[in-house]
Parts: sequence; C-alpha cells; structure tokens
Amino acid sequence: MSKLSYVGDHPDSPWQTYLSQVDRVVPYLGRLGRWAETLKRPKRALIVDVPIQMDDGSVAHFEGYRVQHNLSRGPGKGGVRFHPDVTLEEVMALSAWMTVKCAAVNLPYGGAKGGIRVDPKGLSRGELERMTRRYTSEIGIIIGPQRDIPAPDVNTNGQIMAWMMDTYSMNVGATATGVVTGKPLHLGGSLGRVKATGRGVFVTGREAARRLGLNLEGARVAVQGMGNVGSVAAELFVGAGATLVAVQDHTGSRVAPAGFDMATMMDTLRREGGVAGCPGGEAIDDEAFWDVDCDILIPAALEGQITADRARRIKARLVLEGANGPTLPEADDLLRERNVLVVPDVICNAGGVTVSYFEWVQDFSSFFWSEDEINLRLDKIMVDALKKIWDTADQHGITLRTATFAVACERILIAREERGLYP
Ligand code: GLU
Repeated sequence: MSKLSYVGDHPDSPWQTYLSQVDRVVPYLGRLGRWAETLKRPKRALIVDVPIQMDDGSVAHFEGYRVQHNLSRGPGKGGVRFHPDVTLEEVMALSAWMTVKCAAVNLPYGGAKGGIRVDPKGLSRGELERMTRRYTSEIGIIIGPQRDIPAPDVNTNGQIMAWMMDTYSMNVGATATGVVTGKPLHLGGSLGRVKATGRGVFVTGREAARRLGLNLEGARVAVQGMGNVGSVAAELFVGAGATLVAVQDHTGSRVAPAGFDMATMMDTLRREGGVAGCPGGEAIDDEAFWDVDCDILIPAALEGQITADRARRIKARLVLEGANGPTLPEADDLLRERNVLVVPDVICNAGGVTVSYFEWVQDFSSFFWSEDEINLRLDKIMVDALKKIWDTADQHGITLRTATFAVACERILIAREERGLYP
C-alpha cells in the first residue's frame, strides 16, 4: 500500500513505532491479516485552528487536532494533550494506541486522541479556559457521548474536562455529562478515576512481578515522570513494601538508594510541582537515571524515552510502561534479548480508560458506584486481560507487546470483517 502523504519519514516518530508494532503482529492474525491495512491509517483526522483573545488584547492562534483512528468496536475514546511538541502524527499514534488499548481490555470503544500544540504553563487561567472552549467547539462536529469521548491526558485535568463538558452542552442545548470522562465528581465524574491509570500500572506490575518471582517487599522502583500516573503507581508500590530509589521529571533527576519518604515526595510535588527539591536524596545527571540500580522501572512521561542505547544500560528486570509509547522498537528487541520483561503501555496503562468507561456507564445510567466497587472491578478487568495476553505470549513465544496487539487486533478486525465494507 502507498505511504500516507501526510506522514513524515522520521524512523523514531511515534507513528513509525506504532506501524512497526502492527507489522510484528500481522503473522499472528491469520485470515484477518487481510484487514491489517485498516490499522495503518486513521479513519478520520481533524485539524482545527484555535484563535483566542489573549489577556493583553492580542489574538493568538493554536494548532488543534482530534484523530479518530478506528471506530469498528464503538465510539472513539481517548485523551486530549496540551503540549508544545504535539503534532498530527503524534496524535495519530496516540489514537491508534487507544484503539489497541480499548480492545485489549475489551471495552466497547474505538480509539481516538486530541491535542493542542501549546505550552499551557504560559497561559493565564482565562486564556486556558478560552482556548479549551474554542477547541471543544471546533471539534464539536465529531465528538459526542455516542461518537467520541475525550478525557484527560498530559497537561489536562478535571477542570479542563468541566469546561469541555459545559461548552459541548451549551452548543447542543442540554447538559451532556457523557461527552467527556475524567470530570470533577459533582459533574458526573467517577470515584477512583484520578488514580485509575497509576492503579492499573500497579496491578499489572504486581501480577508480572509474581510471575517473575520478584518480591515486591523490598523491590527497588525507579520512576520517570511523577505526574498523575507515575506518582500514584509509586505510592501503591511503596504501600506494598517496595522502595522508591530514583525519580526523574522535567525539573531534574534524584536518587535515594535507601528510598525516598513517600509523604515527603508527594508534599514536594504538591508544593513545588517537581522532584528537584525533594529532600532525602541526591541529584544526578538526567542521563544517569537510566543506569540506576533498580528492579522495576516505570517510564511514565512521554514517548520515545527508552532508546537502544538506554535499553542496553537499564538494570531493571521489569519495565512497566505507564506512558504511551515510551519504548522504541529496536530498544524493545534489546530488552527482550537481555531478558528484561516489558509490560506494554497498551495493557499496563489501560486502567485510566477502564475507569473512564465506568464513568461513562455511570453517567448514562445516572447511578453511581462506590470507590471499592470501582477498584475491585478495575482489578479484575486488568488481571483477566493480562492473563489472556500472557497465555497468548506463551502459546506463540512472543513478547507481551505483540501478544497484546494479537489479542486486541483480532477483536478489532473481527468487528471490521463482520460489519463489512460500506457501500
Ligand atoms: N489519556 C489516557 C490514556 O492515554 C486515558 C484516556 C481515556 O480515559 O479516555 O489512556
């Protein structure tokens, strides 16, 4: 098939990483392989201009996107990212990983993702609200509770979701809580949603550690990215007896071989917005983070962090991908050769979208569940999904990543085949 005209050639781009992950699974798809090309092109990609009035009276324009990669199994689902490096290709890759992730945990969703190319830290609260509302209005032609349901991602949160829900509701003339997930609790949000992604990383990590014979009591954990995903996962591992020995974020890298005090770490994050000033450890060079002695490594920041060079140096036995797309394909091969087990993003961080699904169901049934019920159901979905993936990996002698793609792509392509081509 011909290459998409709107895709670049950079071999390490997230979209190229995703394409090579698809290529690796095709041999395991049997007759469904004839539909694999469907996975290699987004169904629909919308680029929008987002003009807003700045506080100083000037007008600024931002580039916005919403990509619906695949809708075979249900409405689109996936977060919205505000970051200065966001591109169409990155959003395409993130939307495709959502398709695979939702199918891997068997949620009745397709995959989508959105983003604005902006550094939100440079905006006032008013500017951030105006930008979010104008973006929501612009993508309003393709989103909706039964069409495509955005959620938080990097640099977006409950407040942004509240503005998105309100803007969409104003435009359609009725309060539509189900148009986004990750909302504040009193606006149809769900208990457990904020911590769900980190909790899912912990649950899959706990299962993988058990299979490796790695005791969590005393296990040394290193985390890159102490945001909503990394910090919650770290807290849960420490709660299970592990030690947080290294952290890295945009403010710097720190190690504490005897372990950071978790309460002090969380307090520093709340007060200072980063790990750099956390007492009880020492600062190291950012690149030295990848050489740290640890048992479990959790990349929970952005894509493309585990390069081939870093994969050769990683000391951990277990890598838990809290971030989307943190490992490049060549690094994936090297980690496998070195017997480092990788629990891939498309199952490891699926806890967030799973509780998003619970939120969406609670919104349209107008009946809300207890936090215990949510966490129990989340645990069961993650454990069952991982077991099926592990069995598939053992059956074919393939990595957990290729096995997750095999389980998910089979579900997606069966739906594709059964629905048939229109017209
Ligand atoms: N942004 C999250 C992810 O990458 C959650 C998406 C959602 O809840 O729809 O999985």
